[in-house]
Amino acid sequence: MSNATATEPHTAQAAAGRFGAYGGRYVPETLMAALEELERAYAEAQADPAFTSELDYLLRNYAGRPTPLFHAARLTEHLGGAKIYLKREDLLHTGAHKINNCIGQGLLARRMGKRRIIAETGAGQHGVATATVCALFGMECVVYMGEEDMRRQELNVYRMRLLGAEVRGVRSGSATLKDAINEAMRDWVTNVRTTHYMLGSVLGAHPYPTMVRDFHRVIGNEARQQILEMEGRLPTAIIACVGGGSNAIGAFFAFIPDAGVRLIGVEAGGRGTSLGEHAARFQGGSPGVLQGTYSYVLQDDAGQVSLTHSVSAGLDYASIGPEHAALHDSGRAEYVSANDAEALNATVTLARMEGILPALESAHAVAEAMRIAPTLQRSDLLIINLSGRGDKDMGILSRELKLQGA
Ligand SMILES: *Cc1c(COP(=O)(O)O)cnc(C)c1O
Repeated sequence: MSNATATEPHTAQAAAGRFGAYGGRYVPETLMAALEELERAYAEAQADPAFTSELDYLLRNYAGRPTPLFHAARLTEHLGGAKIYLKREDLLHTGAHKINNCIGQGLLARRMGKRRIIAETGAGQHGVATATVCALFGMECVVYMGEEDMRRQELNVYRMRLLGAEVRGVRSGSATLKDAINEAMRDWVTNVRTTHYMLGSVLGAHPYPTMVRDFHRVIGNEARQQILEMEGRLPTAIIACVGGGSNAIGAFFAFIPDAGVRLIGVEAGGRGTSLGEHAARFQGGSPGVLQGTYSYVLQDDAGQVSLTHSVSAGLDYASIGPEHAALHDSGRAEYVSANDAEALNATVTLARMEGILPALESAHAVAEAMRIAPTLQRSDLLIINLSGRGDKDMGILSRELKLQGA
């Protein structure tokens, strides 16, 4: 389950949840029934007006939707090209888009009668959103986290515990995200009757990539309506950072049929182009299976999953959501990368131009906008999906950036 394979395996489930050749359901037999139960429950929930109206209520009154679309006038002037708008997912409760998905899955778990929630987390952001929703619904919450990540993200570990979650350290492998996912999968196999696995991005086996995307589609739906109201036309491009790919697909989805709108995903270029130094799956990766789904994976010639690096923990993963793999191969979306230094520079620029501190993940999208805006016309419109706020990154920023007068 943790090793990638260079060629696409053939199983009975190969047709379920496909995006072109990608996606599918590559899990042990013991999880098949649980995934089928989840798929069924999700389909029923979508058709139930009581479910959608409670979801809408919580997104509006608990999470803080709709989020604003903000014209970044000083950044636009500074770059001297396209007019730049920010989709402010950073203003949501808990500070990032992740809450959209956690509220959706929390409601679904309650509907399925599952009172125990497990999740995995790397930087701790998904763990915090999960712990938050479990407190809201009065559910038991267990979060798996690599011990290395726990050490690096001490404050988020404390935050989860304060919210009532149990954080379980994982020591195996590199003691980071992919090891925490393996451990969460093991827990799910054992406790599947009482437990819902709250997956944090558009990854994993079907139905997760589709379901998680649907819970984030609200981002693009709102942005499309907002830009039409404000400008009377569609944007030239919408730009989002891509870790697993949930904020990006959520922002892109409503625009996929609008052939004139460029969809630009920004991966983590890290500190170099060799394997192990970055998390740019479309630059150094190849198709393979990782943790339940078939997509692009950073792996060596023997199919061993490689280590990754990014200054932003949320982009630091060896695979990418399968729908992005399909959008990449079809050419409908473009994928580029921004490196650590460019993301740090974009953070400072946005802070000083607009008084907004982006999450280091989101700063990768800002970096790409800074690169292309000057090459475009003043009549061009860019939307940056600002997936989260930077408060969580102050420790890293204060180490990486020496400020004048400090
Ligand atoms: C987790 C996270 C990401 C990366 O996850 P996606 O599934 O790719 O969206 C991006 N931005 C922020 C602020 C995050 O917390």
